[in-house]
Amino acid sequence: MTRTVSSTCPYCGVGCGIVLNVDEQDRIRWVDDDPENLSSTGMLCVKGRFGTTFVNHPDRIQTPLIKRKGRFEEATWDEALDLVANRLLEHRGHFGSFASAKATNEDAFLQQKFVRLVMGTNNIDHCTRLCHSPSVEAMLQQLGSGATSNSYIDYEEASCIVLVGCDPGSNHPVIASRMRRAIDSLGTKLVVVNPRRIEMCDRADLFLQPRAGTDVALFNGMARAILDEDLADRPFIEGRTEGFDAFVSAVGETTVDECALVCGVPAGEIRAAARLFARPPARRGLPEGLVPGSCLVWGMGITQHTQGTDNAHSLLNLALLAGQLGRPGCGVSPLRGQNNVQGCGDAGCIPDSLPGYQSYGDAAIIPFEELWGAGLPRSPGLKATDMVEQIASGAIRAMYIVGENPLLSEPNLHHATDLIRALDFLVVQDLFLHETAELADVVLPACSFAEKDGTFTNSERRVQRVRRAIAPVGMARPDWEILCDVARRMAPGAGVDPAQFAYASAGEVFDEFARLMPQIRGISYERLEREGGIQWPCPSADHPGTRYLYADSFPRGVARFVPVRQHAVAEETPDGEYPLVLNTGRILYHWHGGTITRRVAGLMEQVDTVPVAVHPADASVAEIQDGDPVVVFSRRGRMGGRAVVTDAVQPGNLFVPFVKLQGSAANFLTNNVYDQESRIPEYKVCAARIEKKRERKGAFTLRS
Ligand code: SF4
Repeated sequence: MTRTVSSTCPYCGVGCGIVLNVDEQDRIRWVDDDPENLSSTGMLCVKGRFGTTFVNHPDRIQTPLIKRKGRFEEATWDEALDLVANRLLEHRGHFGSFASAKATNEDAFLQQKFVRLVMGTNNIDHCTRLCHSPSVEAMLQQLGSGATSNSYIDYEEASCIVLVGCDPGSNHPVIASRMRRAIDSLGTKLVVVNPRRIEMCDRADLFLQPRAGTDVALFNGMARAILDEDLADRPFIEGRTEGFDAFVSAVGETTVDECALVCGVPAGEIRAAARLFARPPARRGLPEGLVPGSCLVWGMGITQHTQGTDNAHSLLNLALLAGQLGRPGCGVSPLRGQNNVQGCGDAGCIPDSLPGYQSYGDAAIIPFEELWGAGLPRSPGLKATDMVEQIASGAIRAMYIVGENPLLSEPNLHHATDLIRALDFLVVQDLFLHETAELADVVLPACSFAEKDGTFTNSERRVQRVRRAIAPVGMARPDWEILCDVARRMAPGAGVDPAQFAYASAGEVFDEFARLMPQIRGISYERLEREGGIQWPCPSADHPGTRYLYADSFPRGVARFVPVRQHAVAEETPDGEYPLVLNTGRILYHWHGGTITRRVAGLMEQVDTVPVAVHPADASVAEIQDGDPVVVFSRRGRMGGRAVVTDAVQPGNLFVPFVKLQGSAANFLTNNVYDQESRIPEYKVCAARIEKKRERKGAFTLRS
């Protein structure tokens, strides 16, 4: 006999509805799709359907662990929590915290409350720093909101979709299916912009393959073509934007032909893409009176550069220029990575604003201080990448890391490992004893998504329920409950009322979150039970939620053009010793660094070695055949993998997913240089060399 529990997929930001089938031993036997779910419409990818066996993996941490004389020893919750509370009280003033975009909104809200109220700092951040912080930064500046403006249904109602620097077929498979449905049945046009040939190119009307790091040149070229051919939406620009003249001046500094020379895309293709985006031909079945729309969809190929924020600005400028915002079938969409990266930011796990992206000014912060009964820090905290770098200076001496494994996700991992190792005190709260947890002083066992109640917010701003389906594994507890226990222990020493951390349920935490974040004020568990997921903004209990933003106005009043110019393509470019450009990303069968998917046998059967994509011309020079074991080197380290000889990558380029398999990971090679505004690392470009592995078979050596 099995019972069923409806919940939300714990992998990517698409936020598919899943139905967990649980047996009498409280184990998940299989997962079905949820045809009622409005985001996934009855679809699931391989990870959602077959990837949840990690929940009962024998590697799960079952008890709190305290490190004594270099070895972990099992401890009671009281021992571990007392130690954490006492040590963190000593470290107020030089403390930082990473939240988890895999955890629930309730977990995230409680963590930022703990950090701000008890630790007295805004040093809290999460993995958005490593994926879409440039998009959020650019959208906040230009539009006044850092969220995707539209919904997945808009991809199906668009007349043109422009996919930039993303690979939805691998990373957001259900969104890719919805796009394919529109392309195949309605004749929706598709433009793909990517240095690498992706699966969606098979359906593309245009495939633009720019050189890595030249996005601003390409998109300024498209803007110039739109202006030259008088395709701009003048009424939209005049009525709803500012800064147009300065933008036109900047774009006017170069011609389409000059942009083409920089980015390597022929000028004719730049012009053709500009026409399709600005004035797409109407798709089949477009309702009369509706203007054909274009959706601009992008991923980390845009953001993970030292010019990442400029890249995002250049895309947003295009959307404003063509008036592709604020109506059905158009809009701007940074595809979010983790299942709850949208919600983790919404909940305030970012250093520069409170929940709901509210500033530290009086008007926003006073309601928090009144409700929480104490003053809060008002200066922005350190961003995640800066927290790690600032360990060297002593500005950060203790960290509390929840559901994150920075020693797989940070760039230049040898450097990051040395820094994390130098902390005075490290607490890790997670499911597995991963690379970062191994260095912790205390490890606290947390519940997986299947063992707790809560909500996730997906890439289209839809708040959806996560439901407890099985009992916690071992002594694991929900993240928010653990944080409350630590906070109550510290409250007297921090001058905080312990009652601030007394909640009877996840629903109570959500209610406080909704009270403080105006965009979700109208959402409650009761409504989510009755109506299913609801998209914010939903300001009142009788508001139906919002499919697309900016129909009438922008949160900042009018939208703003931000002129940007192409700078150096990257901090590190190829030379004689490292003649290739290394690009990193993800693959269908593994999730990010692989902390979870390495513990799913069915996914490991598909890919158990890091694939290294290399162009046939470069493979030939290095005498590498398809399938050969290879070693890739950069100035910071080396890693092993298996060669995939393919013309999907351009000559002179390598593509490596950043999953760690057999001890090898791309981030041992990547460069710890950052975009000045968002502080995202330049994961997409560093200089590298590939060689055929000639040593004995076996594990690859990591240290160079
Ligand atoms: Fe889960 Fe994303 Fe796959 Fe949907 S597309 S099943 S949310 S991993």
